[in-house]
Amino acid sequence: MLPWTTYEAMYAAATTEPETFWLDAARRVTWKQAPTLACQTRPDGWHDWFPGGTLNTCHNAVDRHVENGRAEQAALIWHSCATKERQIVTYRELQDRVAGFAGGLRSLGVEKGDRVLIAMPTMIETVIAMLACARIGAVHVVVFAGYAGSELAGRIDDVAPKVIIVASCSFQGQTAVSSSAALNKALAEATHRPQACVITQRDACPARLLPLRDHAFHALEQSTPAGPVMLRSEDPLYILHTSGTTGKAKGIVRDNGGHAVALALSMELIYGCKPGDTFCTTSDLGWVVGHSYGVYAPLLSGCTSVIVEGGPSASAIRSLCHEHAVKCLFTTPIQMRLMRQESRALSGVILPALARVFVAGEYADPTLLDWARSYFQRPVVNHWWQTETGWSITAHFFGLPEHESVALMNDIGRPAPGFHPAIIPSAPDEPCGEIVLTLPLPPGCLAGIWSDRVIGAPTACLDDTGTYYRTFDEGMIDADRAVHMLGRSDDVIKVAGRRISGVQIEKIIAAHPGIHACAVVAVPDELRGQRPVAYVVSISGLVRSPSAEEIIRQVRQTLGRWVGLREVRFTERLPTTISGKITRKSLHFSGCITKDVPASFIRTVSVR
Ligand code: AMP
Repeated sequence: MLPWTTYEAMYAAATTEPETFWLDAARRVTWKQAPTLACQTRPDGWHDWFPGGTLNTCHNAVDRHVENGRAEQAALIWHSCATKERQIVTYRELQDRVAGFAGGLRSLGVEKGDRVLIAMPTMIETVIAMLACARIGAVHVVVFAGYAGSELAGRIDDVAPKVIIVASCSFQGQTAVSSSAALNKALAEATHRPQACVITQRDACPARLLPLRDHAFHALEQSTPAGPVMLRSEDPLYILHTSGTTGKAKGIVRDNGGHAVALALSMELIYGCKPGDTFCTTSDLGWVVGHSYGVYAPLLSGCTSVIVEGGPSASAIRSLCHEHAVKCLFTTPIQMRLMRQESRALSGVILPALARVFVAGEYADPTLLDWARSYFQRPVVNHWWQTETGWSITAHFFGLPEHESVALMNDIGRPAPGFHPAIIPSAPDEPCGEIVLTLPLPPGCLAGIWSDRVIGAPTACLDDTGTYYRTFDEGMIDADRAVHMLGRSDDVIKVAGRRISGVQIEKIIAAHPGIHACAVVAVPDELRGQRPVAYVVSISGLVRSPSAEEIIRQVRQTLGRWVGLREVRFTERLPTTISGKITRKSLHFSGCITKDVPASFIRTVSVR
């Protein structure tokens, strides 16, 4: 039971008495040595959470639930959209498999502090490998399975793993893609040599194991079980490379203690989940949401986690939520847009167990959120995240009895405890600007950056004075603390000296019922310096698609003519990152976008 009835009371407690607040929150975790101090500044200027505390994250996520009567409860439910397989693993089975695989890693020479690179799709074995590392104090580095060649080689050289774990194949849609070729190519390119490779064999595409180098995952699971080793709170649990949305890929280091405390608190405070509830995320385990809410937060809280390989269709999401009585669904705006498209052919949905739906990762327009609310007949909210922060910076707090105002529901919410956002105005007297966070960041955020085999303070993420963490996102903050996100700093458009974010224009365009997705970017303009151009994907099969005139008129009527929108480029799809976010940067004014979206797909309409 949370002790606060209102958001203000909760946020004030974390702000005025942070030591008390976080030491109380730390009681959600089972410690070998309980911490007596919440936060301490390190010699390099960064912060350690719960120094002096010792624990094991795997013990907290698995063993203690077996000991406390949850042995027969499902810990993980896995569904593959590619192969249509489903697997359910109880907490007891998870404990056996993780302990066995941890013993297997030990037999390959893996010790505390060693890095283990896991390049696997979302599978039960991926979670087992992550938890097995956590059990013996090895640092897992999960790499999205779709990365091949130099992307993979770069990460191998960055973290110098003792062991690399891959699946024999991953899937692109329904097509199996062998991982052996990608692994061999990456190893040929990388200078670092791992001591061993572990292959998870999949029926669709078994791999030939190389003698001396490769070991079979399922055989290693049969090794003598290894027990959890006690670690210092600040010891690293994992390294996760940023996807590049926030600059060049950096190795974000997460600690054990702060991470466990923050995620356990967030499950109740933000998501309103209790032990025994079922949480489903559609994120790949290779991204931060997969790490935090596919694996650690639900398991630390004794919940059941539903994980999904591949992009689920609206009907797959419906049946997963229905069959497994999912209470919270966590997905992305792009996934929701696809659901909206598909659901036109489906009738309304009744999911009695579903309490609420969350999206994050990129801007979600109010029209999309409203559609989702009427589709699920439940609250649907957006919240703001970064790989660096590991949990949401701003959110909506379903664990508190107080009801949030409707006005707040369409935005990214208010700061989570311990996050203190401020605005660095882009010009004097401007309410908008870059959103920065006062230090220290709360537990669960980056414990440092992995660079040259050392964990150091993330100086590249700080402002010149070393006082603020820079988010590189733009926005503004209301009197009631609600944060409004305007997009990445480099997506802001400067029209004759006035600033407008692409997101503000997109919101208006997306309200048109004929529009599936849109992105607004800046193009050079001789007179004004820059002007916006809208890329628009219409809903397929419409009798009458939206016209450029309608779109431009709507934007001019809402924001004014000064915005200078006079060009709409109709396209069949928008370029996205590998994690599914629209890449506005790659929408060049030349009309030639990326190899995914050739110029021939685009029809430009200009209106004076
Ligand atoms: P990544 O670390 O790759 O997950 O990207 C983090 C970035 O995604 C943030 O800095 C934002 O630019 C964007 N982002 C994440 N969540 C949201 C959200 N709810 N609304 C708008 N943008 C978001």
